[in-house]
Amino acid sequence: MAARRDYQGRHREEIAIRTAAYRQRPGVRERTRARVREYAHRPERLAVKRQYERDHPEQRAAARKRYRELHHDEIAAKAVVYRQRPAVKEQTRALQRKKKRVRPGIGAYQKKWREKNLQRVLAKGTAYRATNRATLAAKSRKYAATHADQIAAFREANRERLNKASNLSRKLHPDAQRNANTKRRARKAGAEGPHFGVADFRAKAAAMGNVCVYCGKSGPLVADHDIPLARKELHPTNDIGNILPACSSCNSRKKDRTAQEFRALLARQH
Ligand SMILES: [Zn+2]
Repeated sequence: MAARRDYQGRHREEIAIRTAAYRQRPGVRERTRARVREYAHRPERLAVKRQYERDHPEQRAAARKRYRELHHDEIAAKAVVYRQRPAVKEQTRALQRKKKRVRPGIGAYQKKWREKNLQRVLAKGTAYRATNRATLAAKSRKYAATHADQIAAFREANRERLNKASNLSRKLHPDAQRNANTKRRARKAGAEGPHFGVADFRAKAAAMGNVCVYCGKSGPLVADHDIPLARKELHPTNDIGNILPACSSCNSRKKDRTAQEFRALLARQH
């Protein structure tokens, strides 16, 4: 035993190289894998595994999530194939029929629950969209790129409904509407982005005390371009760095002046 340890200690590198070479031999990898697989599937090992999973539900959920993320496309492709199988198709159809026939109240129940918990449902949707903004945007860009005809047809068929919805949205979200208008104006003027958003403006206004930078009044504030979009020679941007909170009165009095010019004018008038 001691002699063997001695030998192993003296020939460590050599042994490592020989072992690596052995593992490369055809069939060795497969045989090892098969042995590991067989070992892992023995009833007593499976029992240990199941017990571990029962004892560590969080790790198990995390591992599953990791697996799903790593194999997303593969799983999706498999699911498509699976759903295409005639027996599965028939089963799905039967289930849908049964749901409708046996429990006609199920849709009504869900509808009622949604109506009763509307705020909760809406808040959940808002939170989800906020945390998944980039993913959702990428998804919808991908969809738009491959379904232009369907989208155009849908818009055409639902024109009235969509107009109504966007009018309502404009009324419900005046800030977003104003921000979109500013962005359009900025683009037209050739101003560089990144374009500031509603949240950027709110954060900046809050950081500056939620008062007009020119007269100091609190109250409704609008986004004022320090270097106005009209002053192209000064290369205005629509970046939050060029945005100042101002009351609408100062904003309209300022006209095409820069913040500095407007402040100088105010100082002369006092
Ligand atoms: Zn003001």
